[in-house]
Amino acid sequence: DVATVSAIFNHTVITAPDTVALRHLGSSITYQEERRAVQALARRLVAAADRGDVVALVLPNSIEFCIAYFATLKALVVPALLNPLYPRAQLEPLLRDVAPRAVVCSPQTRDLVLEIGERLDIPTVISLGDEVTVAALAAEPEVPLDRPEAKPDAVAALLFTGGTTGLSKAVEHTHERLVIATRCTEYMWPTRIQGEVFLPIAPFTHIYGFLGGVLAPVSARAETVIPDRFQPEHVIELMTCHRVTVFGGGPPAIYAGLLAAKNLVGADLSALRVCPAGGAPMPVELLERWRRATGVEIHEGYGMTEMAPISGTTDLSGIRPGSVGKTIPCNTIQIVDLETGTRVLAPGERGEVRVQGPHMMTGYRNRPDETAQTLRDGFIHTGDIGHLDPDGFLFITDRKKDVVLVKGFNVFPREVEEVIHTHPKVGGVGVVGAPDARTAGERLIAFVAPLAGETLTEAEIARHCAEHLVGYKCPAEVRIVDVLPMTGTQKLDRIALRREAREDRE
Ligand code: ATP
Ligand code: MG
Repeated sequence: DVATVSAIFNHTVITAPDTVALRHLGSSITYQEERRAVQALARRLVAAADRGDVVALVLPNSIEFCIAYFATLKALVVPALLNPLYPRAQLEPLLRDVAPRAVVCSPQTRDLVLEIGERLDIPTVISLGDEVTVAALAAEPEVPLDRPEAKPDAVAALLFTGGTTGLSKAVEHTHERLVIATRCTEYMWPTRIQGEVFLPIAPFTHIYGFLGGVLAPVSARAETVIPDRFQPEHVIELMTCHRVTVFGGGPPAIYAGLLAAKNLVGADLSALRVCPAGGAPMPVELLERWRRATGVEIHEGYGMTEMAPISGTTDLSGIRPGSVGKTIPCNTIQIVDLETGTRVLAPGERGEVRVQGPHMMTGYRNRPDETAQTLRDGFIHTGDIGHLDPDGFLFITDRKKDVVLVKGFNVFPREVEEVIHTHPKVGGVGVVGAPDARTAGERLIAFVAPLAGETLTEAEIARHCAEHLVGYKCPAEVRIVDVLPMTGTQKLDRIALRREAREDRE
């Protein structure tokens, strides 16, 4: 069968040459045209970098991103995917970490990349979209490359973790493992061969958006409609106009945004079939609101940059609210006790989730210590806390690092957040701990954003919590905010919230 990502791409070009591959900002390109542009860009990369050198892509979701990615595979260089929205302070250390021989960027990121490139001695910067355009690349005469086809065990992507708990780490994935990860995504969503129209939202530079927005559509010979940015009304317009069948989805913030869009009511979403979520805990409340608004069920998945997907709710397994579903058949999920990290717990018992599967990372690049910490006994130790129910459904409670110690009790912020979310005027919520000088432990602080058009008071939330939670789980303090801080992958930025929580008001 097909054992490399390059082979998946080649296969689609051969079988669906005239299918529209990508649409973005009013332009479109077929698979055959894409292949020509890939070939032309690969030639430039071959001139700029040796086999196995790192080439960084600092590109937004775009036609250019897809061309640049497949061009790196063709040129046998190692693509490092970097979020183009990162400010200099985040981008520079990551680029230093992977030490690329060349960077492919966009007109928007060009100045920043050139500046960093000068400091880090990166010899080549190619700006796609102005200096070199897709149309020009696709029109170039074909010249064969003097590089062979990729091998299954070669690195096919360096993907950075979300940086939710600290500095982002570069995760190495090989061709064969990414092929399996793609197959797992197809199994979970599930997608059909030919005829699907994808609309991805998550950044292509992140494992979720990469598998669901770049690799899965190519494997399905599908058309991909790339929105220019996440503007909910615009996204709904594109979904109706292109009769989107597979919505990429992502963390809850994406669905919360669409549910607040003015044109959602009455929009013709009759073609829509697949609505996945993942990346962060999905409030049960949101699943229900989406089903009521669109008639389509959200399937929640669980995964991480180190291995994705891990589990998901599917039509086969059924949906169990609050659960991130059952394991994909090729994976093993175990819960181990928090103290030793090795004793396997029984169903219902809560502990750290560890996972094993044929598509797990080979390791973190340049970080042997962290690799050894995470990859132990053949398992990836996720740092997430959860339990399995007797039927094998996985429930993620929280992350180890987020647990708050209140008066000697472990409080899982997720549980408090779920309760606050059931308040009818709440749009978003984040609960964190802050040091409590009086008890030497921590106190809970809830940051709550009202739904668009609603107003909320701190007392309303405090009363709601007192009604539904035992005393020590009730936040010591509620702060009403307009918006909650989000990370580059649209997850709640708990580091920012903790910082804010530590600062006294006024
Ligand atoms: P870093 O590892 O750099 O701190 P990160 O863990 O957020 O960042 P990712 O690899 O993007 O980086 O995210 C994986 C994590 O996201 C998982 O370990 C888990 O905590 C969380 N997650 C993913 N899917 C879900 C889900 N469906 N429900 C709850 N949490 C989820
Ligand atoms: Mg992580």
